[in-house]
Amino acid sequence: MEVFLPRTLDEALELKAAHPEALPIAGGTDVMVDLNFDRRRPEAIIDVSRLDELLRWGREDGAFFLGAGVTYSRIMLELSQFVALAQASRTVGSPQIRNRGTVGGNLGTASPAGDALPVLAAYEAEIVLVRAGGATRAVPWNEFHLGVKKTALAPGELILGARWKAIRGPGSFSKIGTRNAMVISVAGLCLAVDEDGRSIRVALGSVAPTIVRAHAAEALAARAMHDAGAWDDVDAPLPSEAFQEFGRLVADAARPIDDVRGSAAYRRHACGVLARRALTWALDDRRAGRGAP
Ligand SMILES: Cc1cc2nc3c(=O)[nH]c(=O)nc-3n(C[C@H](O)[C@H](O)[C@H](O)COP(=O)(O)OP(=O)(O)OC[C@H]3O[C@@H](n4cnc5c(N)ncnc54)[C@H](O)[C@@H]3O)c2cc1C
Repeated sequence: MEVFLPRTLDEALELKAAHPEALPIAGGTDVMVDLNFDRRRPEAIIDVSRLDELLRWGREDGAFFLGAGVTYSRIMLELSQFVALAQASRTVGSPQIRNRGTVGGNLGTASPAGDALPVLAAYEAEIVLVRAGGATRAVPWNEFHLGVKKTALAPGELILGARWKAIRGPGSFSKIGTRNAMVISVAGLCLAVDEDGRSIRVALGSVAPTIVRAHAAEALAARAMHDAGAWDDVDAPLPSEAFQEFGRLVADAARPIDDVRGSAAYRRHACGVLARRALTWALDDRRAGRGAP
């Protein structure tokens, strides 16, 4: 197996163009598991963990850009203003995994259980891809993952990062698993309030082949907020039926399967519970004046 260690993005892209079959490796927390278990034997590997362009984050052209190589540990330390993203990062693996694992790797692995993915869906992120010569294209989050372990990445491309328009309002990520740490989610949920758009976004992980948004529940929540006058008055309570209906519609959006980690019925139930909790937290955060940038 050949191992390429490019020092610049240009060099990495030229290598990828010349060796389209070469497998990129960032933190290696998914790739090395596959190699160690002999599930994969690529002819070549390209290490993308030292490319400056993938390690940066910041605001550009009115949007926020997160480089594919930013690790979960860095997100927790440097990007705590993106509350849901930082919360999701904190739930990934162990400190060692968070020190190596990257959002680009989560995107590349394309598991519906990837914890960063519901957050990117709720942020309505675009995934920025780059090829030799520096040409980039941006793919909406819901067109990047085509199925379990399937992405829209073309052979000569690398993931440069994810980009989204930051919204004002609270948000959270929560997941259900068999224990509190080092656990693959049985169901995961990100809720983001968009104060300016007067909408509530809900994305679900681990309950369908790809991440799903709960559109009917989102519409119900926005309407309930409107009817209660809660968009203008953070102290206005929502009726308890709104929480129940919200939970039911979020559970309805799930398309889960029975597997070793949980039954479809349990996952659906979990989605409803996570949804009601997340809405309660969001309303509490609004009352307390807490919110994302
Ligand atoms: C013990 C353990 C616990 C874990 N717990 C969790 C968890 O709780 N939640 C969770 O979501 N995940 C978990 N994971 C999985 C893994 O840590 C994450 O998916 C992580 O985000 C992978 O990032 P990485 O940089 O290590 O990816 P890598 O293993 O380096 O790569 C993963 C995939 O992405 C591709 N890739 C990486 N970067 C690029 C790029 N720039 N361009 C194109 N393709 C690229 C690779 O080719 C590969 O296909 C766990 C893994 C282990 C071993």
